[in-house]
Amino acid sequence: MVTVIHSITIITLDENNAIFQGFVIIKGGTFQEVGSGYPSKKILDTADEVINGKGKWMMPGLVNTHGHLGSTYLRGAGDDIPLMNWLENVMWPAERRFTRETVLQAASLAILEMVKSGTTTFLDMYHLHMDNIAELVIESDMRAVLCRGMIGHCSDQEQEEKLLESIQLYHNFHGENDNKLTVALSPHAPYTCPPVFLEKVVDKAVENGMWIHTHVSETKKEVVDHIQKYGKRPVEHLNELGMFNVPCLIAHAVHVNDEELNILKEKGVSISHNPMSNLKLGSGIAPIPKMLDLNLSVSLGTDSTASNNNLDMFEELRIATLIQKGLHEDPTITSSEAYLRMATQYGAKSLQINNVGEIKENFIADFILIEPEVPHLLPWNEDRIISHIVYSMKGSDVTDSFVQGKQIMRNRELLQLDEEKILYEANCYLKS
Ligand SMILES: [Zn+2]
Repeated sequence: MVTVIHSITIITLDENNAIFQGFVIIKGGTFQEVGSGYPSKKILDTADEVINGKGKWMMPGLVNTHGHLGSTYLRGAGDDIPLMNWLENVMWPAERRFTRETVLQAASLAILEMVKSGTTTFLDMYHLHMDNIAELVIESDMRAVLCRGMIGHCSDQEQEEKLLESIQLYHNFHGENDNKLTVALSPHAPYTCPPVFLEKVVDKAVENGMWIHTHVSETKKEVVDHIQKYGKRPVEHLNELGMFNVPCLIAHAVHVNDEELNILKEKGVSISHNPMSNLKLGSGIAPIPKMLDLNLSVSLGTDSTASNNNLDMFEELRIATLIQKGLHEDPTITSSEAYLRMATQYGAKSLQINNVGEIKENFIADFILIEPEVPHLLPWNEDRIISHIVYSMKGSDVTDSFVQGKQIMRNRELLQLDEEKILYEANCYLKS
């Protein structure tokens, strides 16, 4: 299958940040050619599919590196309360009542929202019915990392069962759907997992060649409690437990000191920055400029709709850069290009996915098309596009989406999932 898209403005996000009018040839799920100008008649005549992209922008799809799809129906439940109160009195009791059907419908709604707002890759950490979610993700044709979230404060037998489920998920789904679906291990957080359990997780990761994703140092209280209980800070402790000897992506890292940042750098740990969730739960603002100065790998995540409350990565990107400017009273502290890379290629790298996040020959063809003829993106020329994407764009400006060269949304309509059904079910949820 050869697809040609021509007459389009290509935002490559390559090392030169090249932006130009041109065409792409996609074959076998990768960009075979990315060129300026117009393709030859021979190329157009031999292609299986030719798309005229006149007037549109093409850019790499967004990568959301932290979320919880199964809880999407809790959007708007329990706003304006602190994290632990919210988890213990809103989230966890509600989730205990979730059926398989509820989780799957909620995950479908999340996928619909993500595709419609330009996300092509996501990470999902959840503890219920992950095998069914994996099947749903395959059906959607999105790229994803799935992890069975594990809370370790339970009996030894329950711990073993959770680990077994995680490993089974890995054996059943890792590398499925032409390698678009991968599986990682996910202990929930140091405050919900005793050290002995975290060590077991590390052993399993080593044994199976898996990487680890977990929440770390989201709130100040969590860090204070950890020091009281174990006499050391969470990052230092996780390092001692061997967690950072395997590839690791930590969500939040809001309250990390300089020593901890040095550990993260030394061990090559990646960070998923979730600014909207951190703001809404009053958790604080992560020291992203310091992390970037240290060349740490930082990406962006939305967290769940229960703490965000939407999955629009363009909003996440805008908030990520604006809060640092405001916090530091310094407009030069963030650059729009660097933050856009956090939402794309750095995200892919932190999910252990190679060759995703640039429109470039031999890169995997994960990309989106954007309709720029809307008031909030005008006027535009090539010099202003990155600024518009970071400071003005909305997820709803995305019209088309491709993952590994396969189209998953055309003219704002999902091709693989039944949008009407997903919206109907979501609409019924609070009314039944
Ligand atoms: Zn989370």
